[in-house]
Amino acid sequence: MEISAVFTTLTPTEWQAPPEWMNFHYLLRAEQCPRSAALRHATYSQLWSRRGYPDKPSLAALAGMVMHRAIARIIRALADSGVDSFQDPRSVAILKSLGGYSKVIAESVADVTKSLAGNPRFELVRASSLARLNNRVPAIREQVQLQLSRLKWKLQPSSVDLADDLESDAVANGRLPLEQGTHFEIELRHPGIKWRGFADLIELRDDFCTIEDFKSGEPSDDHLLQLQIYALLWCHDEELNPANTAVHKLVICYPNGDRIVPYNKKDGGKLANELQARTNAVRKAVSGPESQANLDADRCTKCDVRHLCSAYWTGNRPASVGGANTERVQLDDVQLILRSRKGQNTWSAECQLSNHIPAGSTVLLRWTPKDCAVLDQLLPGSELRLSGALISYSEDARLQIVSCSATTDLIIPYRLA
Ligand code: SF4
Repeated sequence: MEISAVFTTLTPTEWQAPPEWMNFHYLLRAEQCPRSAALRHATYSQLWSRRGYPDKPSLAALAGMVMHRAIARIIRALADSGVDSFQDPRSVAILKSLGGYSKVIAESVADVTKSLAGNPRFELVRASSLARLNNRVPAIREQVQLQLSRLKWKLQPSSVDLADDLESDAVANGRLPLEQGTHFEIELRHPGIKWRGFADLIELRDDFCTIEDFKSGEPSDDHLLQLQIYALLWCHDEELNPANTAVHKLVICYPNGDRIVPYNKKDGGKLANELQARTNAVRKAVSGPESQANLDADRCTKCDVRHLCSAYWTGNRPASVGGANTERVQLDDVQLILRSRKGQNTWSAECQLSNHIPAGSTVLLRWTPKDCAVLDQLLPGSELRLSGALISYSEDARLQIVSCSATTDLIIPYRLA
């Protein structure tokens, strides 16, 4: 039986230079590890026709996408009816006419799912991801309510662009000056340094501009810089901001409260120079397969392309990589050779590489059938790499068990036919 290319793809069909228009996320990734940026943004035509290695969004990322979508849907409906804040009593009836929070969130889940259609990594775990996302709906609902209770807007109905393709990073054409009002998911550009970024919310009133970004995770200093970059882009975006309206307020909206970000327009030149220098350095560092692999215990554990990284799958990888460990259960990235089938969902295998299991040891590989059915198709002698596998012990503590689930990345670099 043919094995999906998701499990056998190790190298790109074409490496890509850094993007012509630089952005915050690319820069940060490439500075930390040029190899990671090269792998993530290369072309994998054997997998799909889109650019880059397909994302396998985490539960937190999916929940964040749904939250953004739901907020934009509700605000658009309220603004279309002339309601400019959730304190307006008419908002209750309008929300009811949308079907309430539950329906809006369900529709937003459908939008997010649609945007991921054709993503071969998401398709593998679609059912389990959606089940876990649906369990998160009460928390998403709470977040949406919280964010909406803080917002006040003056929206032009046309300014909420609920594009089908939530993942698109194409540079949009036909950009027009922003009208007075509140706008969502707006792309900003600084042509002088060729930088771009997407601001979650821009509020434009007379000569007053506020930029806000919604964050569902923990606060980070990177978020401050991200917002300051958005302010710089806004100030130099002559298409969206021909009146050169200054930024008066930058806000990061965290679940536990807002954080005001300092920004002084006078510092814009310094920030632009810094970004230019950092961009130039990244352009030199990211050079296809020659891109340096910056092995680091903490970074590699979180790297979303580590299963493709040749430097990582050697004995040189950082020894302390391991994730959330307890005495009995550990997360690990493991390379195995299958030896013999032991049961419906069990192989006996030999460990080649691991942070917690000695090389040469015999382990049991177990998996959840609905997420890892490919393991049924393999023969003894096949080699596997599992990123994010769970390591535990058999009841008598004599054998280590490697468990593979929807969150594990599985690569089969070599298999017997
Ligand atoms: S695994 Fe580590 S070295 Fe390899 S690409 Fe990821 S961050 Fe870089």
